[in-house]
Amino acid sequence: MNIHRALLDQLTPLLGADAVLTGADVSGRAAGIWRKDFVTAAVLFRPANVAGVAAVLKACNERGQAVVTHGGLTGLAEGALATVDDVVLSTERLNQIEHIDPVNRVMRVQAGVPLQRAQEAAEKHGLQLALDLGARGSCTVGGNAATNAGGINVLRYGMAREQILGLEAVLADGTVVSSLNQMLKNNAGYDLKQLFIGSEGTLGVITRLVLRLRPLPTGRETALLACKNFEQVVALLAHLEGGLGGGLHAFELMWRNFYELVTVDRAPLDTGHAYYVLAEARGNDRDADHERFVNVLHQATQCHLLEDALVCKSEAERNELWGLRENVELTLESASAIIFDVSLPLTEMEAYVQQVEQRLTREWGGQARLWVFGHAGDGNLHLVVAAGNQPQDVVRERVERCVYEPLQKIGGSVSAEHGVGLEKKKWLHVCRNPAEIELMQRMKLALDPRGILNPGRIFDSVPAE
Ligand SMILES: Cc1cc2nc3c(=O)[nH]c(=O)nc-3n(C[C@H](O)[C@H](O)[C@H](O)COP(=O)(O)OP(=O)(O)OC[C@H]3O[C@@H](n4cnc5c(N)ncnc54)[C@H](O)[C@@H]3O)c2cc1C
Repeated sequence: MNIHRALLDQLTPLLGADAVLTGADVSGRAAGIWRKDFVTAAVLFRPANVAGVAAVLKACNERGQAVVTHGGLTGLAEGALATVDDVVLSTERLNQIEHIDPVNRVMRVQAGVPLQRAQEAAEKHGLQLALDLGARGSCTVGGNAATNAGGINVLRYGMAREQILGLEAVLADGTVVSSLNQMLKNNAGYDLKQLFIGSEGTLGVITRLVLRLRPLPTGRETALLACKNFEQVVALLAHLEGGLGGGLHAFELMWRNFYELVTVDRAPLDTGHAYYVLAEARGNDRDADHERFVNVLHQATQCHLLEDALVCKSEAERNELWGLRENVELTLESASAIIFDVSLPLTEMEAYVQQVEQRLTREWGGQARLWVFGHAGDGNLHLVVAAGNQPQDVVRERVERCVYEPLQKIGGSVSAEHGVGLEKKKWLHVCRNPAEIELMQRMKLALDPRGILNPGRIFDSVPAE
């Protein structure tokens, strides 16, 4: 009997028919956001509890069956792409917000809860889950943990790792490791949650999370600022961080041609400046916060750290500005467009982007297009490259060379926040040395000796002896 048939026979009575999808119920599902293809796996299990996840993994492990975990499928590193031979394990029915403790400021949620639902549940208690990203409506907190997601609050609160106090994960052999710590401090042995956070589903399937909550700032000050050169951008960031006394939440940077593209209908600030910054500060004293924000911007103008500024007067204006920054889809219209997510020191950004531009021009002349934007305050840029009208798979390797190779010399990374997945594994050596990669492989072998969990993601596993 083939493996998939045997798994269906064994697991359907255990999990219930609702938890098992095959045929058109699987192949009718989009393979991911911004993708035009569909899920190709033969079987999709969607257990509604941890015991179900454990049963699926145990049964697959016994047969050496590869399992690919699906969260909200908003990941941008091809980590959740399955083949016809794979079994998919979806967390979509692990969707309960189990507990919110407003006094100790923690919430316990199942891994398939969409980020936005968790955020809204915390806000009902006057608290915030400080993780936030453009895909908030579709991505899951389990996927956020698995990818150690970043987003738009990293400058102030850190990445997903910093918002997670404890978690529960199921290992490849079905062992459930509940490490649901709720405290800020717990140095009793290894911090096991850190093994799973950012491991992209290669070491275990995350099923529950204890998330740290923080006081919800009631006020929000947002401005769009224009700079004439990169020195101004660097000095402006330092000025805002210093002047706003820890209140700066976001410092998003857009290169001129990205700004021009997304403001083609209506530009809130004149086009023609070299850089545009979307800066946001939050606090709890609206009048005082507003006064301070405006004063700090006024000082920045007097010190020649910016050329023009627009301070939002309403939530609608704020949403409009964030809508521009998050309107990445406009850059993806060309068939060859590829999005990159690199990390590098702020001081290297200008020269790095120029170098990438030169390399692309050498390869494709005037056919090459490059848009740059991102979380510059976190040292994280997104580059979108369109190299003529050829499809992605024809140009990908040459484009990747242009973008990734210059990172090695400046100590950058091929993934700031999206992860490595299948897409970037051949470039891992640009930012990780052989000893680091070997240690990762040894950890994989120890936790998943048969290599069934998201195989081939991040690096190729070494076979067990
Ligand atoms: C519009 C848009 C904006 C975005 N902005 C940001 C941003 O600002 N910052 C950022 O970091 N990312 C961003 N992303 C990328 C993406 O949203 C994140 O990577 C997100 O964390 C993925 O969550 P998901 O639930 O969709 O995971 P999926 O896409 O389903 O999976 C991603 C990876 O995690 C694994 N995985 C998923 N769930 C689990 C689990 N429970 N246990 C173990 N492994 C699991 C999958 O196998 C896969 O390898 C953006 C994406 C889009 C489309």
